[in-house]
Amino acid sequence: MRTRLQFCRTCAGKRTFEKTVVRHDIHLLLTVLSLGLWGFCWLLISIKSFATPWRCRKCRVLKESGDTTALIAARKIAPDGFGDP
Ligand SMILES: [Zn+2]
Repeated sequence: MRTRLQFCRTCAGKRTFEKTVVRHDIHLLLTVLSLGLWGFCWLLISIKSFATPWRCRKCRVLKESGDTTALIAARKIAPDGFGDP
């Protein structure tokens, strides 16, 4: 599980977002042991993980975009995520 601090629209503040990450070391080992057969599963798992958005740890709402600068400019929210600019 990877985490990072971002602005959450629902919580209206900076919150910790989390995302499940792929353990490539284990998948590499499984691919070698299965003589490459596991590579197809590894590819699908990696694509799914890449496509899964970040999720707010508090409200569990999915993050639509990783870029908060557009949100700050559009909603005129202070760069720190709290109060007025
Ligand atoms: Zn939230």
